[in-house]
Amino acid sequence: MRSSEASRIYFDRAADQLDLSDNMRRLLLTAKREVQVQIPVEMDSGDVATFIGYRVQHNSARGPMKGGLRYHPQVDLEEVRSLAALMTWKTAVVNIPYGGAKGGISLDPSKMSPRELERITRRFVDAIHDLFGPDVDIPAPDMGTTPDVMAWIMNQYGKYHGFSPACVTGKPVEYHGIPGRDEATGRGVGSLTLKLLSRLGRKIAGTSVAIQGFGNVGSHTAKFLHDAECRIVAISDAFGGFHRTEGLDVLELFRYSNSHSGRLEGFSGGDHMTNAELLALDCDVLIPAALGGVLTQENARAVRAPIIVEAANAPIQPEADLILDELGIVVLPDILANAGGVTASWFEWVQNRQYYQWGINRVRQELDRILGEAFEQVWQLSTSRKVTPRTAAYMLGVGRVGRATVLGGIQ
Ligand code: GLU
Repeated sequence: MRSSEASRIYFDRAADQLDLSDNMRRLLLTAKREVQVQIPVEMDSGDVATFIGYRVQHNSARGPMKGGLRYHPQVDLEEVRSLAALMTWKTAVVNIPYGGAKGGISLDPSKMSPRELERITRRFVDAIHDLFGPDVDIPAPDMGTTPDVMAWIMNQYGKYHGFSPACVTGKPVEYHGIPGRDEATGRGVGSLTLKLLSRLGRKIAGTSVAIQGFGNVGSHTAKFLHDAECRIVAISDAFGGFHRTEGLDVLELFRYSNSHSGRLEGFSGGDHMTNAELLALDCDVLIPAALGGVLTQENARAVRAPIIVEAANAPIQPEADLILDELGIVVLPDILANAGGVTASWFEWVQNRQYYQWGINRVRQELDRILGEAFEQVWQLSTSRKVTPRTAAYMLGVGRVGRATVLGGIQ
């Protein structure tokens, strides 16, 4: 199934509950603007390579559009379009004053030198600098992009528009970023997992957790839950995973990954396990924190965890979502579960605009408050309307965007 069809199915379930008219559905599903640009760049070898960059600005009814930039070989307009819509619902669920957007370039960052990545990024900004900015659309990191990439974006944008740190978020702390942004998505996933466990009447200490992915999100989620006395029984990256029933040594995993160019291959603190085995592991909580679409019609029945927390964007295909619901598995949806990243991006933007910096404790405190409130609202709606947490989250998000559209008028 194409990714836009998948997000359309989730949208429609909520739109039915909200009794939205066909005209409003069409308005909310259509992107405001979709851009595709050519990025010709001289590589280190001296050859010229041409990349394609995308930015989809989905909706601005609630504020400037917001969303990450993805550098991955699978990036195409179709994927970016559906991820942009996801950002619109996500910012609305946590009630921060933004719309939604997403961008990306189809490339494999692991096969490129930092200089090549910098040239590609700067050329991309050359091509789209008139289309984004602090009050219009604010990019941020996503899969395959780092704080360094955000620094290049800010610097290149400044060449056209003057000093504008708020034109992009997720920047390095030494270059107008904020402490706490880096850990925020994982921290949010972790703290919402704890809230969900308590709400379901389950004990936190000793809870067994399997995490697919050890990138920015997976690693910080693991650390947060490990500190909360959960047992991280399995973890993986693109090359495979590791399993240890008594719990993996998370700090050791960090050390190993830092000294092996971000890869876990060769780690000796657990038994080897494939990604497919990890998804089917008998544990309390399963957290897909890597690619989209990993749980499908084919493997959903193999899941044994009673709780899934979607740290990645769109890791569950809609057919799998129905199966998981039928099996009684509780799913905390991406547009709530991983919203900690964009929420901390908002804090960065606010501080950039005020030329002021909060301490890490304030960042964490405000993050926990906003996510906590969103969790309560989703949970309450899910219980009162007898719908899944995903449908409840979409109802909250889509309802808020619809309301802003009506209030703003269509002129
Ligand atoms: N890429 C992240 C997401 O999917 C963060 C976006 C942002 O900070 O704007 O939510």
